[in-house]
Amino acid sequence: MRIYINGKFYAKDEAKVSVFDHGYLYGDGIYETLRGYEGVVFKLDEHIARLMRSASMIMLELPMDAAGFADAVNRTVAENGLSDAYIRITVSRGPGELGLDPALCPEPTVVIMAKELRPYPPEMYANGIKASVVRTRRNSPDALDPAIKSTNFLNNILAKVEAKAAGAVEGIMLNHDGHVAEGTISNVFMVEGGTLFTPPAEAGILVGVTRDLVITLAGTLGMQAREELFLPERLLSADEVFITNTTMEVMPVTDIDGRPAGGGSAGVVAVRLREAYAGEVRRCLKAR
Ligand code: PLP
Repeated sequence: MRIYINGKFYAKDEAKVSVFDHGYLYGDGIYETLRGYEGVVFKLDEHIARLMRSASMIMLELPMDAAGFADAVNRTVAENGLSDAYIRITVSRGPGELGLDPALCPEPTVVIMAKELRPYPPEMYANGIKASVVRTRRNSPDALDPAIKSTNFLNNILAKVEAKAAGAVEGIMLNHDGHVAEGTISNVFMVEGGTLFTPPAEAGILVGVTRDLVITLAGTLGMQAREELFLPERLLSADEVFITNTTMEVMPVTDIDGRPAGGGSAGVVAVRLREAYAGEVRRCLKAR
């Protein structure tokens, strides 16, 4: 594995970041997870645009423009000779003296890692996964806005620990007033009477690149998609529940805290959306 750090590539063992980096000391940084298919990075521009939004929300001046990041990501995938890739861009505040002030860190640290993507097993897509509505609430946007894809990830990690203890693959987090917000690493959708529902940005979520695409694809399939606040009880009575993210794409949820969700098996809407998603990937590969 060859890792990109500030413009140069290093072998895994040589890839090092300072212990004075404020990313390490204070979780002061941002990141993106991307996926490559046959060597082509899917929705690269969208991910970089979100990285730039996260940077501006934490007043982090990036050392490269969007084209520079796109080039660095593509070079990292090529350097590692990858076809189907799991890619992570991390930008931390950089090394600086102890203290919270970002002005202590003159240069951010940019790290890009890419490894072979191991897809989730087909059984998971066929049978759906278990989820748990966890007690840990999603950070309030007034405290730490979930729209920032921040390396300060303890909120989600604590929720993940809870979900795992409940025997679930994903934890569904509620927002400060008890509405469904999102998963620890995913966005949440439900289907009622053929209409898709997903919490709006105002619920206090990370607006996923996959979520946006799924909403668009639903439109092309003639389905309505509504961004609306809802309570967790609605998930149990919905026709289908599924989650989305870059690496999972569209994953059915068929069990919530031991109770069957969406009839207890992968639903037709999730299956159709995943097929449409695969079509979009093929279109993107053709256009390369
Ligand atoms: N919400 C959270 C908290 C996430 O960490 C992620 C992805 O990692 C998502 C939603 C989904 O985002 P995307 O579809 O851009 O991968």
